[in-house]
Amino acid sequence: MSGEVTAQDSVPVGPAPRVTGVETYALRVPLNRPIADATWQSPAWIVPVVEITTEDGFVGTGCSGVHTGHDLICAAISTYFAPLLVGHPCGQIRGIWERLARSPIRWVARAGVVHMGQGMVDTALWDIAAQRAGLPLWQYLGGHHPELHSYNTDGGWLNWTIDELIADMAAMVDAGWDRVKMKVGKPDWREDVARVRAVRAALGDDITLMCDVNHGWDLMQATRMLPYLEEVGMGWIEEPFHPDDVESHRRLQAMTRVPVAIGESLYSLHAFNNFIGADAVRVVQCDVSRVGGVTEWLQIAAAAASVGLWVVPHAGDMMQVHQHLVAATFADKPAMIEYIPWTLDVYDYPCEVERGMIKLPTVPGASTRVRADAREKWQIPDVGGRLDA
Ligand code: MG
Repeated sequence: MSGEVTAQDSVPVGPAPRVTGVETYALRVPLNRPIADATWQSPAWIVPVVEITTEDGFVGTGCSGVHTGHDLICAAISTYFAPLLVGHPCGQIRGIWERLARSPIRWVARAGVVHMGQGMVDTALWDIAAQRAGLPLWQYLGGHHPELHSYNTDGGWLNWTIDELIADMAAMVDAGWDRVKMKVGKPDWREDVARVRAVRAALGDDITLMCDVNHGWDLMQATRMLPYLEEVGMGWIEEPFHPDDVESHRRLQAMTRVPVAIGESLYSLHAFNNFIGADAVRVVQCDVSRVGGVTEWLQIAAAAASVGLWVVPHAGDMMQVHQHLVAATFADKPAMIEYIPWTLDVYDYPCEVERGMIKLPTVPGASTRVRADAREKWQIPDVGGRLDA
């Protein structure tokens, strides 16, 4: 299907059509400025894409976001999942999820590459389902918030000087955000102390300030930093430790009222349940582009919310799908998502943000459809493939 998708195009009843085509490719989207955290630096963000075509002409799109490995994710989908999808009814989303989750390729990559590929497929199928219903995904899932708060995470990078850092954080506040995040994890911890104190002094006490360690610390380092993070009223401590180290997160959370946030490096409901069950997390940052798509994200969000935790997703999808999910999930909780504007030029219907508030989409689907000119400009050669019925 080409052109605008409208409610008139929707097909809300009748048997689900079959999948007739699966195509993968990847875009390398340059960043305005190279960025760095405690573990990585990057000049570009790579968006692997899957497009699933149905016999009645709908095209569903699922995306992820990575620094590298896009070729592996596309290969996992095109080589191993596409033959399981073509000819299958597109509306059997949970059935397909099970089908992919039990395929033998899982034995070589239960998390990461294969699971992210499965998540992209799942998101594409939800995109189709919402398009066929003639509704934006958030309404298809029963959401009712017309707009969402965002917090700005596109600043405060670790490679900024302290003057650049302060200017950067102040610019985000001037642009309308009252919730902002900075990176920590400098080799010399005293630099981190100086930076968090300088930012708090520059922003004043009314701005919510969070920090992200990108698993750069161990428990000793976190314990040493904790008094200073508490002193500046840090809103949360994100990914302090290795993402498999549940016990260190539990111990840190037991020491402080500052919430521990984790999720962008966890790939499954079970991984999240380990943290939730151990009381090792307060802010659950499940990412639809890292877990198994919309289907598993909704399960994780429900598990977290059921014990009073906040769900504020990491936006590996650059907000496109998460705006729908957060709007659909939390009627009585703080509804907030991470703002990272790296791929606004990739999509036909990019996330709309004004003074920190996200205005929810009205176009049917999951807001994942890729612009033709973006594909022309940024497609990486010799990555991906296509399988047709
Ligand atoms: Mg993070």
